[in-house]
Amino acid sequence: MAIVEEDLARVRSATDLVALVSERVALRRVGTRWVGLCPFHAEKTPSFSVNAELGRYYCFGCQAHGDAISFLMETEHLDFVPAVEVLAARLGMALRYEDAGSAARPKRSAELAQAMEKAVAWYHGRLLAAPDAGEARAYLRRRGYDGEVVRRYRLGWAPAGWDALVRALKLPEEVLAGAGLASRNSRGQLIDFFRARVLFPIFDPAGRPVGIGGRVLPGGQGPKYKNTGSTALYDKSKVLYGLNWAKSAIVERGQVVVCEAYTDVIGLHRCGVTEAVATCGTALAEGHVRLLSGFARRIVLAYDADAAGQQAALHFFDWERRLGADIRVVALPAGSDPADLALEDPDGLRRAVAEAKPYLGFRLERVLSAADLASPEGRARAAEQCLQLTADHPDPLVRDQYLMQVADRCRLSPDQLRELALAGPGRPGERRAGRAAGPAGRAVGPAERQPVAPGPGRPARRPAVAKVPPPELEALRLAVQVPGAVAGHLHAALFGSDLARATFEVLASSLTLSEAIERADDPQVVALLGRLAVEESQEEPDDVLERLVERAVARALGELQREARSERPTRSHRELAQLVSQLKLGLEELRSAEPGPGRAARLAEARGRLLTLLVGRPMDGSAGTDVVPPPGAQPSVAT
Ligand code: ZN
Repeated sequence: MAIVEEDLARVRSATDLVALVSERVALRRVGTRWVGLCPFHAEKTPSFSVNAELGRYYCFGCQAHGDAISFLMETEHLDFVPAVEVLAARLGMALRYEDAGSAARPKRSAELAQAMEKAVAWYHGRLLAAPDAGEARAYLRRRGYDGEVVRRYRLGWAPAGWDALVRALKLPEEVLAGAGLASRNSRGQLIDFFRARVLFPIFDPAGRPVGIGGRVLPGGQGPKYKNTGSTALYDKSKVLYGLNWAKSAIVERGQVVVCEAYTDVIGLHRCGVTEAVATCGTALAEGHVRLLSGFARRIVLAYDADAAGQQAALHFFDWERRLGADIRVVALPAGSDPADLALEDPDGLRRAVAEAKPYLGFRLERVLSAADLASPEGRARAAEQCLQLTADHPDPLVRDQYLMQVADRCRLSPDQLRELALAGPGRPGERRAGRAAGPAGRAVGPAERQPVAPGPGRPARRPAVAKVPPPELEALRLAVQVPGAVAGHLHAALFGSDLARATFEVLASSLTLSEAIERADDPQVVALLGRLAVEESQEEPDDVLERLVERAVARALGELQREARSERPTRSHRELAQLVSQLKLGLEELRSAEPGPGRAARLAEARGRLLTLLVGRPMDGSAGTDVVPPPGAQPSVAT
């Protein structure tokens, strides 16, 4: 479903890129550009530039470049169409779509999304102001949630009545039911899904509410937590609570902290662990890990992962192997969760997160710290338990590393443990082979670990901009930024660098920079155009054109000399000599232009004559060999 081209162009031209970027990066004005620290790579001195007029950004450090749409796609991890939709919404602009036939499904999900947004807003209003929400407000205050937290996380209160939301929203049943907000009870009445609960709206990565988690007040009825069921908007095995707020921190820190409850996320965020998210009433699933792998590799579990058991361990090892995840575990004090710790010991919580251990190491530590390592029997038992745990890890090198640690702690020789590992009652080596085999049945070693495909959070490595001589770069800069100043004076023949020439050609055949960037299929050209858009042009167009022409003439003279020296020149010596002398004369004319009125025009004429010679034919279209040498010129090939 594509957005109508005209609307795309409107979104591009109407969006204030400086304002958009400023929501994320502090920009300051330098000349005609805006500069700041790059949001796409870590840096201390600003190399990120925005050209407000052209609506383009470029980073001189990492070569990230693009327009408002790509900026939103990369920073908010959105696909193209949703990114355009967000920008259009900011502009209050309605978008038109190309394919009217496929509009039915998006309309339906748009309706559900609107209903969800309305419900979240309504519940939020209730929590802030309704008299019946007093108890909920008191509960939240006891948890340390002030008004700011309530607003930031858009917390809500679902009244105790049966159908308060249904009556307030007055939406069609299929929309309310479709969004998981209401359902028919056994007596056939349409009733609210959430009643007498504090609500934690769950947002998609773009910040649109897709579901809700409800928690009863202490002493309330029913299960402690109740979440929206599966709907067209909400799939709990793929949604992570808090990802909309955490995604930038996740990318920045290269890790995500996963906990179990909404209150844990809020607690962690308030302690500065802003990369925290929560699974919504479900165990961490492959869908979550896949979603997260687009943001960061390291997944830090902030819940009792030991209790998750052996089945979870197999999943974790499998994700590490197949998805390139690096799963670690926070050692939380027994019986405590991050939400409690955030209130009681925020420093301890931050430290525990920072000291998270690899999953297997964490589990072994649990066994060893609970074991009686003072007696030979205790050490032997602990070693056996540890061997069972390590047996499931698919990487033999990792297994061996841990085995050596265990041997050390249990005062056994590593070789003894290795033998045990191979011949032990569980025959871990054999069990392993089946589980950790690759597609062709081979055991998969560390070297074959698949790197995770570059996701939206980790921009793919961008092509470096190849070296372009300064005058050519400057001429292109002018062509991009003040096309009027150089229009009619530039020609592909003036560019010696292949990249600069290709860039000029695509620019010359496009009406706008955006069009040129879209049409260019060489990534280096695209990158160069992106960069040119934000580079300030500092030179006089006449100076630039003069240097450009001079260089082009020098190149042409070199070529003519080579041709004259070659065995079989394509032109006669006389012709070559003529051309050389004409070029030299033209150059002389260019350099010796007297200051005073009319100088610019004389220079332009001189350049035009040289260009005619360079292009090989006069601008009127007749053949190049017809160029008549100026009278008195002494043809000479030597320089
Ligand atoms: Zn950068």
